Amino acid sequence: MKIKKVDAYEILDSRGTPTVAARVILENDMEEFGLVPSGASTGSKEAVEKRDEGDSFDGKGVQGVIKDAEKSFFPEFIGMDVENQIEIDSKIIELDGTTNKAKVGANITLALSLAVCKAAAAAEKKKLYLYINSLFKNFFGTNVQMKMPLPMMNILNGGAHANNGLDFQEFMIQPVGFSSFKKGLTCGVEVFNSLKKTLNKKKFSTAVGDEGGFAPEISSSEEALSLISEAILSSGYKVEDEVTFALDCASTEIFDDGSYIFSDNKKLSSEELINYLKQLSKSHPITSIEDALDENDWLGWSHLTKEMGKETQLVGDDLFVTNKDIFQEGIQQNIANSILIKINQIGTLTETLETINLAKKNNYTTVISHRSGETEDSFIADLAVGSGAGQIKTGAPSRSDRTSKYNRLLMIDAWENFEFLGRNELN
Ligand code: PGA
Ligand code: ZN
Repeated sequence: MKIKKVDAYEILDSRGTPTVAARVILENDMEEFGLVPSGASTGSKEAVEKRDEGDSFDGKGVQGVIKDAEKSFFPEFIGMDVENQIEIDSKIIELDGTTNKAKVGANITLALSLAVCKAAAAAEKKKLYLYINSLFKNFFGTNVQMKMPLPMMNILNGGAHANNGLDFQEFMIQPVGFSSFKKGLTCGVEVFNSLKKTLNKKKFSTAVGDEGGFAPEISSSEEALSLISEAILSSGYKVEDEVTFALDCASTEIFDDGSYIFSDNKKLSSEELINYLKQLSKSHPITSIEDALDENDWLGWSHLTKEMGKETQLVGDDLFVTNKDIFQEGIQQNIANSILIKINQIGTLTETLETINLAKKNNYTTVISHRSGETEDSFIADLAVGSGAGQIKTGAPSRSDRTSKYNRLLMIDAWENFEFLGRNELN
């Protein structure tokens, strides 16, 4: 089916910051939208968002950027076959001509790329996850097994997503000991609600951070983990057997001049931070650690992977920025054993699928991820299932920008008989 028209709208993300929604209209007048998320603790090598830098929304408006795209970029795609995702994404990359989508803006390119995918799925009358799965076959000639992802739920927020004293950004739980997605998610939700009671009892605030998790006024990782442990126990679940911990240190944010700086003025070298994380993992069942070290501290990452990579999932977020060239370099250097996949870090769907494919070929686990600034679009839920990624990170089960993804997964789980591997996803 051919593309008849493309336009875009300035909409709001979950932080009230403008973002882009692109619309693709097909020859038969069907229309689909692609909505773009936005990060707060971004890696320096991510594809870049383009903003107006004018007076509205503190310079973060996108109205002007959209106007430019509607004038000279979107018309280039009229008449193209919407089912040809590779050709369309290649044209996006070619017309932009930069390595980081700086000319057109990754917020524009991704909005178009996602709207194209959704419109193609609709034109073929296919559920989005099934259509995404078929793209793997078309692109790489591989049959990817679809499955329900193990959630990584950020129930206690710190770092750049909250204004408490917690240096690490995310304290997550993974419901590893369950036989179905539904049972696993139910456990995660019950622990989240139990954490609210635990915090209330101790007179902590139950206000939430950007990703829907609580953001109590505490300042140590130990305290965060022990509060969550208490919540798990009082909800009747078993720490370790049924629920494990995952951290996102987002260490790029605390790295300065060769050291990791903590809010109590402690300064750690990468070796000291690795030792600290090893010690923390001894006292708590931490199965996954994301961005344990700074995005440029590759020597540290190499030591970290040697020291902890056998037992712990080590996820590269700011480290790899969903970029297959940077990731390839990391694979060669034996850095990390898992990659976070964020569609707006790279700016097209085809490039995202290439990075997922590279991870699969090299036995890295893949975690499909939201951004801290999200929209109601649940695209990443379909991406997680259709790509057989194995894991999804999409915040706490709180606020519609987060629950829209969990709700979509609950429906897919009800429609299909896809397997859920729980703990086995981690190795
Ligand atoms: P961001 O945070 O969306 O603000 O970058 C998410 C993450 O670091 O994983
Ligand atoms: Zn991260």
